[in-house]
Amino acid sequence: MANPTLLILPGDGIGPEVMDQVKRVIDWFGDKRGLAFDVEEDLVGGAAYDAHGTPLHDDTMKKALKADAVLLGAVGGPKYDNLDFSVKPERGLLRLRKEMDLYSNLRPAQCFDALADFSSLKKDVVAGLDIMIVRELTSGVYFGEPRGIFEEGNERVGINTQRYTEGEIDRVARSAFELARRRNNKVCSMEKANVMESGILWREVVQKVHDEDYPDVELSHMYADNGAMQLVRAPKQFDVILTDNLFGDILSDCAAMLTGSLGMLPSASLGAPNADGRPKALYEPVHGSAPDIAGQGKANPIACVLSFAMALRYSFDQGDEATRLEQAIEKVLADGARTADLMGPEGGTPISTVEMGDAILSA
Ligand code: ATP
Ligand code: MG
Repeated sequence: MANPTLLILPGDGIGPEVMDQVKRVIDWFGDKRGLAFDVEEDLVGGAAYDAHGTPLHDDTMKKALKADAVLLGAVGGPKYDNLDFSVKPERGLLRLRKEMDLYSNLRPAQCFDALADFSSLKKDVVAGLDIMIVRELTSGVYFGEPRGIFEEGNERVGINTQRYTEGEIDRVARSAFELARRRNNKVCSMEKANVMESGILWREVVQKVHDEDYPDVELSHMYADNGAMQLVRAPKQFDVILTDNLFGDILSDCAAMLTGSLGMLPSASLGAPNADGRPKALYEPVHGSAPDIAGQGKANPIACVLSFAMALRYSFDQGDEATRLEQAIEKVLADGARTADLMGPEGGTPISTVEMGDAILSA
């Protein structure tokens, strides 16, 4: 059988630095675990703009649509701040998401034991935390029409429209239930059905998908404001949280800070399954291009490495190998390896991006 294909888009800023460590990890899996990928690399964001005058070349878009998974570093940087909106680096990423139709955004919040002290919350609240937020990514209030700033009488009015079709709710709900079956069979869906029509429909469709096709999964519903409070008060009550685009944006940032540093957080964005059952997929760290530390060898590569672990699990059905990689990271942290972003107030000597890569490989 042909090797699975991986398109690597390192991007800008610290993107290429952290991706270099992921490439070493990918090679390791080929050498030591017989898990070979056909890897292709291309440009995205400012790097693509510099080379082609566009943040995503059509050829790159075609490669992304063909690849079994896309792994992205980060895009953007001060050098591109004054570019026209249509060629800004971020547009490259938005085009990928849109044309791949990546409607389901998975953001885990997982607290590694060794970092439990480092979290912004009390240790017993976050130790052992392992939850996953499934955020709808391609619809809702960020896209609904009408939108704009309009004249109304003698003043202006700013309008956005929260809009969800049954089909859009149905497909993201399925992706959450499928995920729950691979985890602990538990989904909590969050909306504001008490004050929003879209929330009423959301709750109804999620319940229907559950009753018809996923009755084995434990489903609960919660108003998103209460959800935010519960997430901070007692996050371990959750396993998979399913929510819309706007609430997901807020709740996933909130969940992220339960675990410590931006440098630790991976993400996956999934679309409709291909003929072979693999969803279209893009994996990327949650962090951006971090221009303040780019080129200094300080960046933490763990978020990007963990994004590759998600690819192993969700695109390539290699859950055991993903766990192997996550355990190596757990061990490295337990042994005390820290990049600068993971240094607590007590200080110490941070290791470099490459040294963190070395440590993960030897673990
Ligand atoms: P974007 O607009 O692209 O999302 P941002 O403004 O949210 O970017 P980031 O680029 O994510 O910001 O950086 C925010 C802060 O976190 C910066 O101080 C950066 O140095 C730090 N940071 C981000 N990623 C890492 C990392 N992998 N390792 C260490 N520090 C990081
Ligand atoms: Mg940001």
